[in-house]
Amino acid sequence: MKYIYITGRGRSGSTVIDAMLGNSKSIESVGELVSGLGRFNAMCSCGKGMNDCGYWTSVRHNYESKTAQSWDKFAKDTVKSGHVKEFMDTLFGNSNFNRGLVKDTEQFTQGLLEVAGKKAILDSSKNPNRALWLAKFYDDSKIIHLVKHPDGVAASKYKFIGRGKGYKFLRRTYLNPKLAPLYMTVEAISWMVGNAMIGLIKLVRPKKVILVKYEDFGAKPEAIFEKLSKFLEIDLSEVRDAVINGHPLTFGHTIGGNGVRNSETFVFSTKKGKKRPMPTFYKVLIRIFCWPLMLIYGYRFI
Ligand SMILES: [Zn+2]
Repeated sequence: MKYIYITGRGRSGSTVIDAMLGNSKSIESVGELVSGLGRFNAMCSCGKGMNDCGYWTSVRHNYESKTAQSWDKFAKDTVKSGHVKEFMDTLFGNSNFNRGLVKDTEQFTQGLLEVAGKKAILDSSKNPNRALWLAKFYDDSKIIHLVKHPDGVAASKYKFIGRGKGYKFLRRTYLNPKLAPLYMTVEAISWMVGNAMIGLIKLVRPKKVILVKYEDFGAKPEAIFEKLSKFLEIDLSEVRDAVINGHPLTFGHTIGGNGVRNSETFVFSTKKGKKRPMPTFYKVLIRIFCWPLMLIYGYRFI
């Protein structure tokens, strides 16, 4: 019961990479499972609430028929395994909580894959703690560390602040537009810290984590799909061909993630939203905080 997980910073393209890989005949994409399970009746991409969607009710039914554990408790524990507060505990601990949750997660995954008729689940919840949890405790797990140039990530956050939608940080939204320089500083620091935390997971479990640059899906699709196929031990040639030829892709029954998944089909392109404007001041700020990892990932500075 293979469990594939996408981790990385928000606004790094995880929703679209997740949906794209879900078009493989072996991979079932479920979106952001951790936040989806945490919300009562989260919206599924088919347009129905999770409690009304036939797919998710079958998954739940299948899970409940395999275990004595309640669905709500499983959902609550899964959310806990994704919380950043648990990082040190997950890194050094090996509690009964973790062993119990591994069993529940295996049963959930098995039940879901029976409904989907596929070989591997793909969850793009992104939180580094969930990635560490899976890498450490779940045997058949593979972690994709997705990175995007910090200018792209920050420009997207800057756009939201400019539109009055505020700045989201650690599950809260901050709304004062005058504090934009502070928010952007926090954003630059968290790009650095968040990605470094995932780097630490690779040190702990090197064979379970692969670093993938979002931009490479546009710049060198052949090489990136080959690398991913080898790492996941799954043939991705149909998805690769659809991406290279600009063919439409579909969404499965995914939960969580951003609004893009509510359209019926999509054509994958890394060029969308590329030219979002951001003042030079913030670009300088980003380089001051992010240069070490920008250098390691091979990102341009000017
Ligand atoms: Zn659905």
